[in-house]
Amino acid sequence: MVKVLAILYSGGEFAKQQPRLLGTVENKLGIADWLKEHGHELVVSDDKEGPNSDFQKHIKDAEILITTPFHPGYLSREVMDTAKNLKLCVTAGVGSDHIDLNAANERKITVAEVSGSNVVSVAEHVLMTILNLVRNFVPAHDQITRGEFGGWNVAAAARDTYDLENKVVGTIGAGRIGYRVLQRLVPFDCKELLYYDYAPLPEEVAKKVGARRVEDLKEFLGQCDVVTINCPLHEGTRNLINKETLQYFKKGAWVVNTARGAIVNAQDMADAVKSGHISGYGGDVSFPQPMAKDHPWRTMFNPNGGGNAMTPHVSGTSIDAQIRYANGTKDIIRRYFEGEAQEPQNLIVEGGQYASKAYGQR
Ligand code: NAD
Repeated sequence: MVKVLAILYSGGEFAKQQPRLLGTVENKLGIADWLKEHGHELVVSDDKEGPNSDFQKHIKDAEILITTPFHPGYLSREVMDTAKNLKLCVTAGVGSDHIDLNAANERKITVAEVSGSNVVSVAEHVLMTILNLVRNFVPAHDQITRGEFGGWNVAAAARDTYDLENKVVGTIGAGRIGYRVLQRLVPFDCKELLYYDYAPLPEEVAKKVGARRVEDLKEFLGQCDVVTINCPLHEGTRNLINKETLQYFKKGAWVVNTARGAIVNAQDMADAVKSGHISGYGGDVSFPQPMAKDHPWRTMFNPNGGGNAMTPHVSGTSIDAQIRYANGTKDIIRRYFEGEAQEPQNLIVEGGQYASKAYGQR
C-alpha cells in the first residue's frame, strides 16, 4: 500500500457544477477510485501553509506527492527533511519550481511533470493578454459594464489603444510555450519576432516563424515593444526583471508574464507601470500563490488608469488542459507502480540529477 498525498485547489460548489474541473480537491484528478481499487491510500487537501497544515502533516509518511502550480504546496528543503518516505513528486501541470529541485536531487527524489499538457492553453492566454494590453481592452470594457467615463467615451479609451501590427514582440524562453506564442503571432504581421534563450531554436524551426535570437538580455529588452516571459523559474531567472533590468525596456513597452511571478520583482514592476515607463503588465502568476490581498499588482495602473491585465492563475488550467494533466498524472503514477520507465520529457530531476535542460545552465 502506497500513501499518495495530493495538494490541489478547492473547487467548492463549482467542482460539483463542473465535474471536469478535475484539478480540484473535490474531483481528485479522477484518480481516487483507481488508487483505491489498487489498495493505495489517497489524501487530498488544499491546506498547505504552516506546520499544522495537512500538507506538512501528511508529507511525513507519503511516498508520492502530487502538487499543482495553480495552488502550489511549497516543498522546501526543510519540509523535505521531514518527508522520510518520499520517492516521487508529480506536478499536475507544468512548472516544478515550487519544489526545491536541488534538495530533491540530494535525496534522489524523482520530480516529474506532465510536459506539454497545457502549453497551448497558456500560449492562447498570452496572445489574449498581449492584445488586451496593446488594444487597451479592460478600461474600454469597464466603460460599458461599470459606467467608467460616463459609460461611453471613445477618446478616453482610444488614447491608449494601438495595433499589434508593426510592433516588435519578444519572448524570454522559446520552449514549448514560447514557440507556440511565436507561431500564433505570425498572422499579426509584427515588425519583428525576437527570442532570448540560451538554447537556440534549430535554424529551420526559427525560420518557420521568422524569429531572430538576441543573445544579450539588455539588447533584447531594448528592442521589444512587447516582452512575454515563457521560461521556468530557477536560480538564473528569479528576479530577472527588476529595477535595473527595467531600465533597458523601451519606454511604453507592455509585459506579459504567465511563467512565474517570482521572475519579476513585484514592487519594481508596479512602480514602472505607475510611472508609465511600462504601459501595462498582464499575466496570471504571482509569488506566493494565492496572491496576497495587498499584493502591489492588484492596485497597479498606468497614469491613465489602465495597463493591468492580471487574472488568477488560470491560463494553464482550462477544462481541456485539466483533462490532459489529470491523465498525464495518472500515467506517471502507473509507470511508477509498474516499474516502467517514465516518458523522458516528463522528468525534471531523477536519480540525483537534472533530467531537463530547461531549469538553468549547469
Ligand atoms: P519548456 O521547458 O518547453 O521551455 C522553457 C524554455 O525556457 C527552454 O527553451 C529553456 O531553454 C528556456 N530558459 C530557461 N532558462 C532561461 C533563461 N535564463 N533565459 C531564457 N530562456 C530560458 O517549458 P514550457 O512548457 O514552455 O513552460 C515554461 C514555463 O511556463 C514553465 O516552467 C512554467 O513555469 C510556466 N507555465 C505556466 C503555466 C500557467 O498556467 N501560467 C502553465 C504551464 C507552464
